[in-house]
Amino acid sequence: MDKILRIDVGAAGGPKAKVEPVGEYTGLGGRALTTSVVSKEVPPDCHPLGPENKLVIAPGLMSGSAASSSGRLSVGCKSPLTGTIKEANSGGTASQALGRLGYAAVIIEGERQGDDLYMIVMDSSGVKIEKANDFRMLPNYDLAEKIKTRFGDKVSLISIGTAGEMRMANSTIAVTDVEFRPSRHAGRGGVGAVMGSKGIKAIVVNAEGTKMRQPANPDKFKEANRKFVEGLKGHAVTGQGLPAYGTNILTNVLNEAGGYPTYNFKEGRYKHADKISGEVQADLETKRGGLATHGCHRGCAIQCSGVYHDKDGHYVTKQPEYETVWAHGGNCGICDLDSIARLDFMDDNYGFDTIEMGVTIGVAMEAGLIKFGDAEGAQRLVDEAGKGTPLGRILGAGAAVTAKCFGLERAPVVKGQAMPAYDPRAVKGIGVTYATTTQGADHTAGYAVATNILKVGGDVDPLKPAGQAELSRNLQIATAALDSTGYCLFIAFAILDQPETFQAMVDSINAMYGLELTGNDVVELGKKVLRMERQFNEQAGFTKAHDRLPRYFSREPLAPHNVVFDVSDKELDSVFNF
Ligand code: SF4
Repeated sequence: MDKILRIDVGAAGGPKAKVEPVGEYTGLGGRALTTSVVSKEVPPDCHPLGPENKLVIAPGLMSGSAASSSGRLSVGCKSPLTGTIKEANSGGTASQALGRLGYAAVIIEGERQGDDLYMIVMDSSGVKIEKANDFRMLPNYDLAEKIKTRFGDKVSLISIGTAGEMRMANSTIAVTDVEFRPSRHAGRGGVGAVMGSKGIKAIVVNAEGTKMRQPANPDKFKEANRKFVEGLKGHAVTGQGLPAYGTNILTNVLNEAGGYPTYNFKEGRYKHADKISGEVQADLETKRGGLATHGCHRGCAIQCSGVYHDKDGHYVTKQPEYETVWAHGGNCGICDLDSIARLDFMDDNYGFDTIEMGVTIGVAMEAGLIKFGDAEGAQRLVDEAGKGTPLGRILGAGAAVTAKCFGLERAPVVKGQAMPAYDPRAVKGIGVTYATTTQGADHTAGYAVATNILKVGGDVDPLKPAGQAELSRNLQIATAALDSTGYCLFIAFAILDQPETFQAMVDSINAMYGLELTGNDVVELGKKVLRMERQFNEQAGFTKAHDRLPRYFSREPLAPHNVVFDVSDKELDSVFNF
């Protein structure tokens, strides 16, 4: 991956492509690369939808190689939802395809001229850009059908749906999976709106005729990757729980722990959780001829995903993730998996982040727009947003804006981004991550749930404030490094618990690049990424006062444990003391 593709959308006569050496960004991948480019090239005080913002799409360092579970694709920019720096990452096949074509990044920059939409086509012979006005306001699945007709289903597609075209603050960038379905998304922070603001509807990546990236030391690589896969398969979470039930195995776990946000974060336990659990979902998928175990890209040893069919055996959507089932399920009082699966499809099709949309609907329910539990009403609201009606424009701007428009204090957001599926009062480590991460509320930025609830990598009591800042700090550093490699975050369960699996991952990277990195070097990379992100945010106007949860989380006790969020401001301010 020794070159960068820059697309100047402001060039005379339409967007122009320029391929250049990777230069000063050599040795970086994924989040480290997107963050470096945004930090260096985007003015922190710019408008996220203005000409100074850039969209950076970067495969992880190991993407395109035979390293297991290494196909994550990072998307970076200044976020229209949070106003902070943003890195959102996605599974699917595009990261590997970009890696095999030798691209370290695609950078879309400049000021869109006129109203035309464009499509970028990349293959081993070069890059072509063409008008794509025929695709205007096509949802992702319809667009994928059109692309398939012309290019076949072996290419990868990176696209925006109607939400991104309308530059909504809740809008994703979709990536096709192994079956060429646009079911994987760089979901958080409104990255789709930035792609829409540049007038790019689709990027087709055709790696046909290319080979897998070869390691510098093939024998060492093969052995390290073998040990790594062995470690993943031998761990209870990555070897059994996730493959069998997907991420939704967490519904019963979090509900039992009293940390499952219910009815717009009013309660910590949902009385109908058993109807929407991962166990029930996996059983239904298998019975209906879908799949309970499935990889979002080739070469994943975990295969946490699946395929959800309706009662007649027809495809509805990919297996909805735990966070999606929660956002549209318990958070909205909806306990019907078919309705939740339909909402997941609608979100993917229009290009909405399921977490942001589910929390937005929860806020709309609290505002009295529809009742908690109204699954048809929820679908109507997503349709309004996807079509851009006046109400839909409000909903498509996310949970914080919706709460403001309907005069509510209870917006569960940090820095404008909706909290995911873990109540910060009963899982305090994740509360620290929500408050302090550079990304706005984001569980993936420092997944303290692993240690608080699953007891992976240690044991820190989820209900007490002690030790949460340190836990979140260490996880945020490790995650920033991991997000740079292309390895899926789910490998973290195994590498946190099993030192030999962590070592096998480091050995794989060393064998790939002919390096001698140590575990400490990986930690230093994570710190470096976080420092850059923090500095960007400070220059964009963010202070410690923004590293806080909404006050009602410290005021309203959460049943069943009747706890409030009580990690002190001093502790929160200590997270970035490194
Ligand atoms: S563990 Fe799941 S999300 Fe991660 S790469 Fe594998 S299938 Fe994709």
